Amino acid sequence: MQKGKGTRAVHAGVKPCEATGAIMTPIYQTSTYVQEGVGNHKGYEYSRTLNPTRHALEQALAELEGGKHGLVFGSGLAAIDNLIKILKPGDEVISTDDLYGGSYRLFTTVFENYDIKFHFVDLSNPEVLKSSVNENTRMIWIETPTNPMMKITDIKAVAEAVSGNDVLICVDNTFATPMLQQPLAEGADVVMHSATKYLGGHSDVVMGCLMLNDDELDEKLRTLQNSCGAIAGPMDSFLVLRGIKTLHLRMQRHCENGRAVVDFLKDHPKVEKVYWPGLESHTGHAAAKRQMSGFGGMISFTIKGDDKKIANKFVEGVKIFTLAESLGGVESLIGHPATMTHASIPKEVREKVGVTDGLIRLSLGVEDADDLIEDLANAFDLV
Ligand SMILES: *Cc1c(COP(=O)(O)O)cnc(C)c1O
Repeated sequence: MQKGKGTRAVHAGVKPCEATGAIMTPIYQTSTYVQEGVGNHKGYEYSRTLNPTRHALEQALAELEGGKHGLVFGSGLAAIDNLIKILKPGDEVISTDDLYGGSYRLFTTVFENYDIKFHFVDLSNPEVLKSSVNENTRMIWIETPTNPMMKITDIKAVAEAVSGNDVLICVDNTFATPMLQQPLAEGADVVMHSATKYLGGHSDVVMGCLMLNDDELDEKLRTLQNSCGAIAGPMDSFLVLRGIKTLHLRMQRHCENGRAVVDFLKDHPKVEKVYWPGLESHTGHAAAKRQMSGFGGMISFTIKGDDKKIANKFVEGVKIFTLAESLGGVESLIGHPATMTHASIPKEVREKVGVTDGLIRLSLGVEDADDLIEDLANAFDLV
């Protein structure tokens, strides 16, 4: 029987050091490994190829996602970069339309130059997906919930819609984490994370990862990783190994805080709209309820008036929330997507998906919900 997620979070991938008994995986801060004879080594030759600290993390992350293989990179974007490089000129990708700004920038300003074509469509609508697939389609890029509109794509429905085609289904699972959503079990081929966010969880590391089951694809990705070199270092690998040990506890609290803050926002007279998949009125609620075991601590909302000045005054008026990019840490963050995370997306494009000037995004930390609500209430009084 597969162990529970909490047990796996604590124990996955780590075993006591055989030499010393150290319970935590040591930080193997080394570039190379002594060989007793030519080709006679203990599985590690050079740390770009493999490092024991990174290796332990790769195994832990694979286990958490219910996958066989894990690869760890220097950032979330480096992980995506490595994955897209399995494609060839002429290949096409169908992607979620409301996606992380950095992913959009990587696709459109880097890979389109290599003649890989990206179609940004509303994947939450299976009909739109079916009509976008053609003979060059090699990959579907799903982000769910999306950043920042919290749109939900039914992973299983996408997998069923393209089954029989030679198409890889890849899911950016950064927002949900393996605690709330297991894309491989829903039919995805590859799961990607910005481990910078919830997996690390303490805003002290930038890292990315890929998890998957297929041996051949793993080999391809590993060869690319070793050839291109965007690996994560041993110290950062240690930090994320440490972070994931409390992932289940943190996610539980993020979800509880999400529910409490949404309950406050949805009835507030100065709030126009709240985007959170746990709301019954949310367009993706049914799919979220089916494929997620919790709705997370990411919330977006628009302030009445939908005005940049009002939104800016609000985000500058909070005291416990911190104005910053990023998400998924223990401390609550507040952001204005139109001028921060999504500034690299053209105004017409971002407004089409709902990233208007009055949109505010919250990443709820693990503080006490009452304090967070009071902080928001005080900021509303200022606008
Ligand atoms: C942050 C983020 C990324 C990029 O990850 P980095 O670690 O910043 O390179 C990709 N997808 C999502 C959903 C993110 O939030």
